Amino acid sequence: MEVSEVLARCVEGKQMTREEALLLAEANVEELPLLLSAALAIRIKHFGRTTTYSRKVFVPLTKFCRNQCAYCGFSTQKGKPYMSFDEAMNIVREGERLKAKEVLVSTGEKPEEVHPEARKALRSMGYSSTVEYVRDFEERVLKETKKMMPHTNIGVLTKAEMAELKPLNASMGLMLESISERLMSSGMPHEKSPSKDPKVRLRMIREAGELKIPFTTGILIGIGETWEERIDSLMAIRSIHHEYGHIQEVIVQNFMPEPGTPMEKHKPPSLLDTLKTIAIARLILGGSVAVQAPPNLNLKAYHTYLLAGVNDWGGVSPLTPDFVNIAYPWPSISEIYEKTKAMGFKLRERLPVYPMFIIRGWIPELLKERVKSLVDETALVRRGEDAY
Ligand code: SF4
Repeated sequence: MEVSEVLARCVEGKQMTREEALLLAEANVEELPLLLSAALAIRIKHFGRTTTYSRKVFVPLTKFCRNQCAYCGFSTQKGKPYMSFDEAMNIVREGERLKAKEVLVSTGEKPEEVHPEARKALRSMGYSSTVEYVRDFEERVLKETKKMMPHTNIGVLTKAEMAELKPLNASMGLMLESISERLMSSGMPHEKSPSKDPKVRLRMIREAGELKIPFTTGILIGIGETWEERIDSLMAIRSIHHEYGHIQEVIVQNFMPEPGTPMEKHKPPSLLDTLKTIAIARLILGGSVAVQAPPNLNLKAYHTYLLAGVNDWGGVSPLTPDFVNIAYPWPSISEIYEKTKAMGFKLRERLPVYPMFIIRGWIPELLKERVKSLVDETALVRRGEDAY
């Protein structure tokens, strides 16, 4: 089969097979424009020319982590293990003043399991786990603000832990990153990160579906995975989504080196490689899921992602840095607005839960009123409440 035949079938709405996706992965640079134009056609058919973003603040309640990923510039084992609720609520209140709606609660993963200082700090505050601490913080967010809503992404959780946090969250997330178990072997980036085991992460993504939690996941590209592994990661996400219908967006995140990490000299993927991956993600996932790519990880050329099928820029903050990619600050939201417009698309603000799930009613009781007060008939943030 030819690349052009595969693309034509895909644009007609046929589901792409693994073999077809692998064929596209071998497409050469002359064939890349064909991939981009097919991906763009699917994006326009399902999302029109609207591109969304979520106005957020990033609250890293702890940067201590039980894992040691070789590319991680977020985790640290120095200083005070946990941010106090008062410090965190100051960020949230300032975010609300700046018209943010999402509180991204992102932390290192369950540090109390390996770091005695984290255990001790939790105990001194009356907690036995990071999850309990996050839960109480999110309760405060809902009690003390009118428009802010949590999105939790704190690593691998059990089904019971997700069920406990679900009533407080607009949506939740966990990157699959990669389906490759090979990346956990000696000398590879996940060697010292047991919970980067793809089996563990796929289990959590599936269990989020069983719990009907609107869910964000994605892949991290350029950390040593093969093209076949990239395709298999996307296929696995699609297959879980087909079963449960709960994936709201798939992030295609390009690795970028963080100074001071073991992978600081590792070469990041090229723009063409990233564009090809975004296009293949769109072609595999079709139109039922948003495809997102972070603008700050390719500051000079992120607008070209729009030509490959991206329809969302993710959470962008008018206040806090991207603590996960601390060396790569977000562009301003007004710049994103202008660049999106210059490419022939329009920018709209969305909530941390995507319109489809608002329309479907997958909103916890505690958040229903605030969601309703913030959106218009398209379930995007209504004019006057939005900001660019
Ligand atoms: S990438 Fe996430 S899981 Fe890995 S060390 Fe950093 S904070 Fe922990």
